Amino acid sequence: MLLQLLTWTDVERYLTQSHSIIIPIGSTEQHGPNGLIGTDALCAEAVAKGVGEKADALVAPTIPVGMAQHHMAFPGSMTMLPSTLIAVIKDWVFSLSRHGFRRFYFINGHGGNIATVQAAFSEIYAAASLDNAGNQAALQCRLRNWWQADGIVGLSRELYGSAEGGHATPSEVSMTWHLHPEAARPMRMEPEIAPSGEFSDAADYRRRFPDGRIGSNPGLASVEAGKRLLDVAVAGLTEDYRRWAAA
Ligand SMILES: [Zn+2]
Repeated sequence: MLLQLLTWTDVERYLTQSHSIIIPIGSTEQHGPNGLIGTDALCAEAVAKGVGEKADALVAPTIPVGMAQHHMAFPGSMTMLPSTLIAVIKDWVFSLSRHGFRRFYFINGHGGNIATVQAAFSEIYAAASLDNAGNQAALQCRLRNWWQADGIVGLSRELYGSAEGGHATPSEVSMTWHLHPEAARPMRMEPEIAPSGEFSDAADYRRRFPDGRIGSNPGLASVEAGKRLLDVAVAGLTEDYRRWAAA
């Protein structure tokens, strides 16, 4: 169930059954020579929709831009400052908690968001912890990265081995091609496996990883693999969501 396709009376009814909601969070950034700029947002949203359907859970609008400062030397990339993203996450959560939502299950598509999302959770918890009058509702947030869902690491290894890499991975590129087959761009990568390593700012990133990939070969991506990956990610996170929402 997508929040945007319900009426307010539907939401009021949902809140008599559940206080949990799923929030997809992605990024809008370069994904190598043949990966879509929207990869991380598209994947997070697709997995979240799947989990929402299987678990009968409400799915909030996707946060489509994340913390991606290190990708800004590549055209089309967008970023929020960490401080902006923290503010956005707090506003998303506190808007929904105003109506009675208490549990917020974030499905993430971008590694660069993790530290900032965790910092936002600390800010949200601090609002309750520092409120001696006890006026703040007790909220619980959970962050799950779709590429670490039960079954996904094994499937990615089976499909791509060490060519999975860290950024512009064949797994995430495959998932977007399954969602948008018209956007699939099969091509050979040169070198086949991209370099790996650390980076700091955007210029440093582009110097070390000239075509945008890190350690990956998205030339191996396919529409068929994308469907398998989506199904496994949805199954793994549905289990996790159900356990968490029931606890
Ligand atoms: Zn990505």
